Amino acid sequence: MSKLRTAAFLGSFLLLVLTGFGQSGAAAPPSGVPFALARHRAQVLKAIQYELCFHLPADKEKPVSGEEILRFTLGANGESPLPLDFKAASEAVRSLSINGVPSPVRFENEHLLLPAAALRAGTNTVEVAFIAGNPALNRNSEFVYTLLVPDRARTLFPCFDQPDLKAVYRLTLTAPAGWKVMSNAPLLDSTSDGDSCRFRFGLSDRLSTYLFSFVAGRFASTDRIVDGRPMRFLYRETDSTRLRLSIDSIFRIEGQALRFMRDYTGIDYPFRKFDFVAIPDFQFGGMEHAGAIQYKASSLFLDSGATLEQLIGRSNLLSHETAHMWFGDWVTMAWFNDVWMKEVFANFMADKITEYHEGYERGGAWRSSSGEALGVTMPGGNYDLKFLTDHYSAAYSVDRTAGAHPIRQQLDNLQEAGSLYGNIIYHKTPIVMRQLERVMGTDAFRDGLRDYLKIYGGGNATWPDLIRMLQRHTKLDLAAWNAVWVNGAGRPFIDLKGKVEKGRIADLTLTQRGEDGSARIWPQVFSVALVYPHRIDTLTVRMITPVVHLRAAIGREDPQCILLNADGQGYGRFELDGRSVKLLLQDSAKEWSAVSRAATYINFYENMLAAHKISPLRLLEIDRHRLSHEPEELALNILLDQLNSIFWRFLPAEARDSLAPLLENDCWQALSVVRSDNEKKLLFRAYTNILLSPAAQQRIYAIWKDRQPPPGVKLSEDDYTGLAAALALRNYPDYPAILEEQASRIHNKDRLERWLYLQPALSADVAVRDRFFATLQDAKARRKEAWVLSALGYLHHPLRAAASEKYLPATLDWLEDIQRTGDVFFPQSWLQASFGYYRSASAAALVRDFLKAHPGYNPKLKAKILQAADNLFRAEVLTH
Ligand SMILES: [Zn+2]
Repeated sequence: MSKLRTAAFLGSFLLLVLTGFGQSGAAAPPSGVPFALARHRAQVLKAIQYELCFHLPADKEKPVSGEEILRFTLGANGESPLPLDFKAASEAVRSLSINGVPSPVRFENEHLLLPAAALRAGTNTVEVAFIAGNPALNRNSEFVYTLLVPDRARTLFPCFDQPDLKAVYRLTLTAPAGWKVMSNAPLLDSTSDGDSCRFRFGLSDRLSTYLFSFVAGRFASTDRIVDGRPMRFLYRETDSTRLRLSIDSIFRIEGQALRFMRDYTGIDYPFRKFDFVAIPDFQFGGMEHAGAIQYKASSLFLDSGATLEQLIGRSNLLSHETAHMWFGDWVTMAWFNDVWMKEVFANFMADKITEYHEGYERGGAWRSSSGEALGVTMPGGNYDLKFLTDHYSAAYSVDRTAGAHPIRQQLDNLQEAGSLYGNIIYHKTPIVMRQLERVMGTDAFRDGLRDYLKIYGGGNATWPDLIRMLQRHTKLDLAAWNAVWVNGAGRPFIDLKGKVEKGRIADLTLTQRGEDGSARIWPQVFSVALVYPHRIDTLTVRMITPVVHLRAAIGREDPQCILLNADGQGYGRFELDGRSVKLLLQDSAKEWSAVSRAATYINFYENMLAAHKISPLRLLEIDRHRLSHEPEELALNILLDQLNSIFWRFLPAEARDSLAPLLENDCWQALSVVRSDNEKKLLFRAYTNILLSPAAQQRIYAIWKDRQPPPGVKLSEDDYTGLAAALALRNYPDYPAILEEQASRIHNKDRLERWLYLQPALSADVAVRDRFFATLQDAKARRKEAWVLSALGYLHHPLRAAASEKYLPATLDWLEDIQRTGDVFFPQSWLQASFGYYRSASAAALVRDFLKAHPGYNPKLKAKILQAADNLFRAEVLTH
């Protein structure tokens, strides 16, 4: 059942905007999908049905032709033409007929304008023959997949491309013989005709345009029945070990995710089928096309060397996309400004699903009898630690910068929806929701969500709609909460002042203010630990006022140190107690919980970046010391990330060469001390990330050449590929022979193609790299975004930064074009991969000059530049 909700709060403003194209003969709406046009169409259109046929040729350079029969019911449209979105060249429309009458093609500003005179109140039928645009088709030599989020359906076929005009789809594909296909609806039949095959699908469920999808190509498939539900899985992986170790886990996790979602929401899986596909070098982790989910193949197919982080990542990814079937696909945001809602609940549910995994209590990774990792459970059920490591650093990486933005952002035109995505949407929001759940109580929070899904199921809803549903179940003032957490940017600084009299605490006061100095309060709950030689007292803080006197602390003995945010759930930068550094260095932190240690490491890093009380060299010293003492893999990972970041970004240049052999040695020593294979693998990776001393390089060369890793470390083909690249980046003697031999070792076609693509980016010859970089100006050369990002990582590696800094001006100049032509995460990733490790004053000046020279620059893109350049700006302060 549909609920096309009109946005009452927009009132008269809308009518004014609408009159622009409410007149006969008036100008076409601007390009993209302007908000006003979307509102207008939501009010006049219903019962939309697309009958679509696409002809996919074997040659990926040949055009894809299509035919469409569009049916809809029209209310009062007035005298104005009805704009159908189609972002293509005007010659892409080959014929048009409206209600059986051929019509001239009026094509303006990415809209096909249907003349008012040809339309009627009630049912209309529009027939279009067209050439489908390539941008959303992801055409490869052996497979094709569509990815239409957020506004790319309109590049593929003429449509009403907005999330609140849900429609049903009836699809036919013709594809080369031997290809397999998948779409949102079940396949009805297929008919062979020489070199090609015609596939007919049934009628789909009602879906927003961004969720319509098909995949076609040479794929292998596995069919299973899970909890009585048939599922089909398409993939191109050929490695038998990866297949054997992954397929069972993937189906099992999907089954668990579906079961959990049904139980939590009280609503059965709402669509008619559930299939999924693993796509090589997919540009996202996954995409939640209802009944035909797409996943990045390398995240699903893990081998016996998989780390705990990879196993958790896979479980989270599968659960995330599956949770979207309820949050996003069944109840959909009315407009993409609320895209964060579907993402937060997908992540929020994924965290709960991973926690819920059966066998969870057993702890550690699931292993087969031969010790191979099959799936994941939390070590010691440490859900809090997993949540902390998943989200906090990622959220801070944006929220601490000058490019920080609120969770809920304004969106005037759908063509800019891609710029809303990022770490705030994916990582700050789960933290915020968890805090809300904590403040409201888990049952009240779940009941509010159930109301919301029940009332808006099958239709669309806004964030204020959800707030209304939640407010029914709590006394907390959600409007005030919303203003700072959802409509505000940034994070608090939480300070601590204490007074001790006669060895006992006389006062312990926490104060909260914005890190920017503003007098804002982020209502939240977290804990404070008072650490004593043989015990820890944990006190809960309800920080809902600017100042909290912690009465429960008064009268207790003066502790060895105080850990603010000991449970890791508080959000912000916390004052650090210098005494905690000493305890960590003396290894007297054995009784701290893993999550306390991890939260402390993260807090040290945040304070280091803020140049507050702890220097990069001091933190490096702590991290190095903790490598062989930190027993939790997830916490060890934080230390290694910090080590890598400080080493390449925040040390004076002259310190790097002298420190490298010491750090390499620390990693190698720790590798022999830690127990688990996963930890060994992480340390091995950290070692190869440094790899500056000749001795270390020779060692890695020998490991690569003989394929003999150190005991306990399992290396996959991808790992060896990474080692070959690492040696090339360091100009290891005769590295071209290494690259060539690596190519001969790769048997999977897709992976080999990728490796060959990356070769010029690895070349020691600057001219070769320059030529390669220059090709990226052309959008066509950037189509394989995952490959481009790997290449950029090599081009801009710190060891090559001096020669590559000259690429930075073009990197910024092309950004608007990259946003126009690329997928949603690409502008951000493009900037990160390019600017991520620069530290020179000249690079920082270049960014500032660019922003100065472009005062009217797109504010969302400007924010992304400021986010990507944040470490660069901090390096100026920290290293000089
Ligand atoms: Zn998602």
